Amino acid sequence: MSQFQQTAPGLKNQYDDDRVLRSYLARVLPADVLSDIQESLSEMGRLAGGELYELQLADRLNEPTLTQWDAWGNRVDKIELTPLWHRAEQIAAEHGVVATAYEQKHGSLSRVHQCALAYLFTPSTDIYSCPLAMTDGAARTLLNSGNQTLIDRAVPHLITRDPKEFWTAGQWMTELTGGSDVGLSETIAKQAEGTNTYRLYGRKWFTSAIASQMALTLARPEGNPPGGRGLALFYLETRDEHGRPRNIQINRLKDKLGTRKVPTAELTLDGTPAELVKEASDGVRNIAPLLNITRLWNGISAVALMRRGIALSFDYANKRTAFGATLSEKPLHVDTLATLQAEFEGAFHLAFYVAELTGRSETREISDDDALLLRLLTPIMKLTTGKQAVMVASEVLESFGGAGYVEDTGLPVLLRDSQVLPIWEGTTNVLALDTLRAAQGLKRFESVVRECVENVDNDAARVVRSALDHAMSWLAETKDEAREAGARRFSLTLGRTIELALLIKHAHWSLDPKTVNSANRFASVGVDVIF
Ligand SMILES: Cc1cc2nc3c(=O)[nH]c(=O)nc-3n(C[C@H](O)[C@H](O)[C@H](O)COP(=O)(O)OP(=O)(O)OC[C@H]3O[C@@H](n4cnc5c(N)ncnc54)[C@H](O)[C@@H]3O)c2cc1C
Repeated sequence: MSQFQQTAPGLKNQYDDDRVLRSYLARVLPADVLSDIQESLSEMGRLAGGELYELQLADRLNEPTLTQWDAWGNRVDKIELTPLWHRAEQIAAEHGVVATAYEQKHGSLSRVHQCALAYLFTPSTDIYSCPLAMTDGAARTLLNSGNQTLIDRAVPHLITRDPKEFWTAGQWMTELTGGSDVGLSETIAKQAEGTNTYRLYGRKWFTSAIASQMALTLARPEGNPPGGRGLALFYLETRDEHGRPRNIQINRLKDKLGTRKVPTAELTLDGTPAELVKEASDGVRNIAPLLNITRLWNGISAVALMRRGIALSFDYANKRTAFGATLSEKPLHVDTLATLQAEFEGAFHLAFYVAELTGRSETREISDDDALLLRLLTPIMKLTTGKQAVMVASEVLESFGGAGYVEDTGLPVLLRDSQVLPIWEGTTNVLALDTLRAAQGLKRFESVVRECVENVDNDAARVVRSALDHAMSWLAETKDEAREAGARRFSLTLGRTIELALLIKHAHWSLDPKTVNSANRFASVGVDVIF
């Protein structure tokens, strides 16, 4: 009988241990801001590497449940969440994982602070980032709407730090007819005569975080034309004062590959009371602020999951021995992990750059050119980081050998959860087409990328300039169907190019050899996928 026992991978304080996050914050934050927020980040890092991580492993087999009927034949549609999610909700509220962005203690940089909290929090909570992203997006959408009644009613709940008062929000867009082409939505809104109140009738096909207290949704007021413009954006509260669903039937919870702690439901709306957020049309346009925020969260979650996998892999490499030495002493294993680290660092700098721009947009300190850049970078960042997260998670599992494939290590969930990132909040193709629509931001994109590598004369900088030139000439020369067909390759090239540019900029600021290595490695792997 073998006496050998393998030591499991472990996590330390996830903030103190994160060279990339700490170095980035040191560059973008003034010293007084950094010193002011450091404690909150260290505390979240402690929870993420300690209590929450332990709870996550212990909660592994639990899943949300739906009880449709009570013992007496009443339809109740009750959702029970798992212990991890209950604790996550409490921590999220108390630590301001949404609130920080709205308190704006540090102006536009509060968005960076909030994204850093979300980045630390997310990987230990089995995608509790999903309800938080939609909550954040709902708060931003309501605030932008100017609808004071709804702002007064809901926003204080969405951005509070008091767990008892805290609400989360859902975003109900996707119907059977389509999640990408939401203009096909069939839900009808009937207005009660002489009032501003509507009742909604229809089926929503993917509604995550169905335990939320409110939702923003799309429906077509009776008599409106077909297509996206004929839809309106509605606010609704999911349950009445007795906790009963407001004419909403939860037909079932989806049986999904990953995100299994997220209760994603199929619903029937059968006269659900709802209020217009803005006008009785243009719902797809009016819900855009929500999507911009959830796409930012998607990117932050992508880098957070990459970081978690790599942190565990590096730790394990010091503990696992093969062929007479630890894996961390094997050049090929080290090389494999370094490539994952480079992907993560590129993705990290792009996601947080979008957070910086989002913050400036929210405090109205953004130039017109940078607003166009943010419009362009949001889909590019979401689609690029989503793809990287899946690739990195797959390699992370392999870096553990067979253990990476075994459920009770807690590792396979990283791959399953990452796989949703390129699908929800706009698939890769849908966002690639959106990138073409946002091409007005390309002028500023080009200047930002060139500024990042200004005065840098090395191979990595040459890779950036050459990919940028290629992307710009491709766009100028490619028209119609060929342009549409090439949109994904074009967008990914832009995404990887700006990731490398930002990484080079950071390497030259920090002069940290590890960051320089990551930049050179990212450049060697390549950024130009146009052919
Ligand atoms: C776990 C999970 C949770 C979700 N939660 C929610 C939620 O809370 N609220 C919500 O509203 N939705 C939610 N969704 C739905 C999600 O947003 C949609 O699944 C997604 O937008 C894609 O829509 P679809 O499934 O209808 O696919 P389709 O739109 O049918 O797309 C199928 C394929 O066609 C491609 N495609 C579509 N149009 C084009 C085109 N013009 N050119 C090229 N390719 C194209 C897509 O990229 C995709 O690969 C969730 C999905 C999942 C998996």
